[in-house]
Amino acid sequence: MSTTLDTDICIIGGGIAGLWLNARLRQAGYQSLLVERGALGGGQSVKSQGIIHGGIKYALGGKLNAATEAIAGMPERWRSCLAGEGELDLRGVRVLSEHHYLWSPGSLISNLAGFFASKALRGRVEQVKGKALPTVFNDPGFRGKVYQLGELVLDVPSAITRLAELSGDGLIADSSPHLLRADDGSISGVQLHGATIRAQRYVLTAGEGTDALMQEWGESEPAMQRRPLQMVLVKGADLPPLFAHCLGASPKPRLTVTTHPCEDGQWCWYLGGELAEQGVNQTADALIDAAKRELAELLPWINLENCQWTTLPVNRAEPAQSGLVRPDNAYVQAKGNALISWPTKLALAPNLSDLVLEELTRQQVKPQAHPPLPSDLPRPRVAEPIWDMCFR
Ligand code: FAD
Repeated sequence: MSTTLDTDICIIGGGIAGLWLNARLRQAGYQSLLVERGALGGGQSVKSQGIIHGGIKYALGGKLNAATEAIAGMPERWRSCLAGEGELDLRGVRVLSEHHYLWSPGSLISNLAGFFASKALRGRVEQVKGKALPTVFNDPGFRGKVYQLGELVLDVPSAITRLAELSGDGLIADSSPHLLRADDGSISGVQLHGATIRAQRYVLTAGEGTDALMQEWGESEPAMQRRPLQMVLVKGADLPPLFAHCLGASPKPRLTVTTHPCEDGQWCWYLGGELAEQGVNQTADALIDAAKRELAELLPWINLENCQWTTLPVNRAEPAQSGLVRPDNAYVQAKGNALISWPTKLALAPNLSDLVLEELTRQQVKPQAHPPLPSDLPRPRVAEPIWDMCFR
């Protein structure tokens, strides 16, 4: 027997974007129901580095662009939520580092001239020296410079867990939800096993899965692009905390390192940046060798002998743009009774929810009275941290 679940807004996909939006919608008085086909956060979100960017890495070329401006306010917005004073109460979410750093390994200062000349960076980047240096750089062999950025790094699984709590009864697990197409081309519902969801609006926040949902709906626009990466994970008992972009010769970070707690008490360095972009077509072994060479050159005093190594291929999903350039804001496109969206960055999830709420207001979609949702809906679980999964 199939039940109909009536709601104001049906969200498809429970990563950071869908969960943040679900919490905001409920706060704004809408009834919402989020469908997740796997584990909450199990797409890109828990595979991300958790950096709440303020856009500083995009200013490395010496040019400020729309990306830098659009996300400049995000660290403050997240910080106020973490302090229980923002739009969502994220108290209890684990902050792995209050600051992210920028580190120039040698005499690369000429590359940075344009960067530091930029007015918009004033007060957002500060050089640290001596005792204020993160411990990892506290070695006589270190010759570079280190700058503290006004950006923080989160433990994403704990953020997903908290956002799931804020979703109350508005989460449902279903392994293969299907979009139903009405004769006029709009979405008439979402078919689950044993239930159909009918909503005023449908918001697609399925990350990489949005591509297939669009095909199922029979629509080709807006199109999606994938940006493949192969990340490297290094696990060890004695790894010091490192949260930093290492500058290279190009405007993109040569290496971006974040440090994450493993269930057995060890630590995992998660390596992104150019290494992960260039590693896409390499075998895991070749990429691990390249990562070992990079770390031996950049941090030769760190002993990595007893560490475990692995890699994680993962795609970023974003709205299609020519030349695979980075999109510069959260993206929300209204189409019929749907909104198709990608945050483009974890940090921009609040921005995505603003754009959806603005669009609902513009379309005059108002909360309506609905029967309460059943209390026994199958609830999706929260994804496991990859620093545990990848080493099993
Ligand atoms: P996802 O997290 O991918 O969530 C989509 C969800 O939809 C998944 O749970 C999936 O199971 C579900 N789903 C898919 N199809 C369906 C369907 N048909 N029905 C129901 N559910 C479905 N951003 C930052 O700001 N800072 C960083 O440090 C950072 N680091 C990154 C590092 C890496 C390696 C990668 C890949 C990305 C990084 N990002 C970072 C980007 C960031 O992770 C993403 O922009 C963000 O997590 C996307 O969130 P999302 O909710 O749109 O998608």
